[in-house]
Amino acid sequence: MNARNDRPEAEPARRLTAHVEAPRLEGGLYLVATPIGAARDITLRALDVLNSADMLAAEDTRVLRHLMDIHGIPLRGRRVLPYHDHNGNRARPALLAALAEGASVAYCSDAGTPLIADPGYRLALDAAEAGARVNALPGPSASLVALSLSGLPSDRFMFLGFPPSTATARQTFLKTWTAVDSTLILYESPRRVNRTLTDLAAIDPNRMTVIARELTKKFEEVIRGTAAELAADPRMSTLKGEVVMVLDRPSAVEVDDEKLCKMLEHYMALMSVKDAAKEASQQLGLPKRDVYQRALELADKK
Ligand code: SAM
Repeated sequence: MNARNDRPEAEPARRLTAHVEAPRLEGGLYLVATPIGAARDITLRALDVLNSADMLAAEDTRVLRHLMDIHGIPLRGRRVLPYHDHNGNRARPALLAALAEGASVAYCSDAGTPLIADPGYRLALDAAEAGARVNALPGPSASLVALSLSGLPSDRFMFLGFPPSTATARQTFLKTWTAVDSTLILYESPRRVNRTLTDLAAIDPNRMTVIARELTKKFEEVIRGTAAELAADPRMSTLKGEVVMVLDRPSAVEVDDEKLCKMLEHYMALMSVKDAAKEASQQLGLPKRDVYQRALELADKK
């Protein structure tokens, strides 16, 4: 990812704050969310913290410097320390030492929210365990932007990060998580979307699936279809840019009412209505709420 100054949104001549003075910031770690595309998708508080922090750290120091430049935030002699997956163990002690001395340390990953499929977890944990105050500055995350755009149920969702890249591990991963009764959010490389869709279609061809691409950027695109439709869609083999996949919860399994009632009656003779509904819903793979409703109707009739 880069700081994306090639997009029209990334040319903010207007500056909301003149960052000439830097008010003192309370000591602690500041996990600062940054734009996932449009450079102006940054909060005023994030700009304040980047302006005032004693120390700056970033997954890619050039990306942060560029973002600060776009928003007119001077470095004022502050160094930007690199902190990423490959140098975390080496780089953490210096950041923790600064925190122990009461410094304010701002950390940004390349784009979006640190720790969300991005570095920062160990830093935040170690800082908290060492007694430093940890602050998270909310902002963009591709996961939530995709969920908002997907048109899929948002009352219960699960973030799965990147699926494994090897075929067997990916198939096991998909089998395990697609059984969960929740909307699922996955990050995926554009080169692997096609393979992941093919695996998904083999497990649940009718699963409504959304491909959300290049979010908040010029070529933002949202493509919807069943897993089988998308797996057969030639556009999926030539996708470009950054991609989030959002999967609907499992489709209700078609079970005839007679079979359900028979099973419920069997269990209701042995246990409470609630337990009978739970048992039947698990065995038939049906939503608990619906089965419980049917069980209550049967109990009423008796
Ligand atoms: N921390 C980031 C966040 O909060 O979204 C995610 C970082 S992760 C290393 C990068 C992945 O996030 C990409 O491969 C893609 O799946 C997703 N992503 C990031 N920016 C995106 C965008 N503008 N549009 C679609 N997906 C994006």
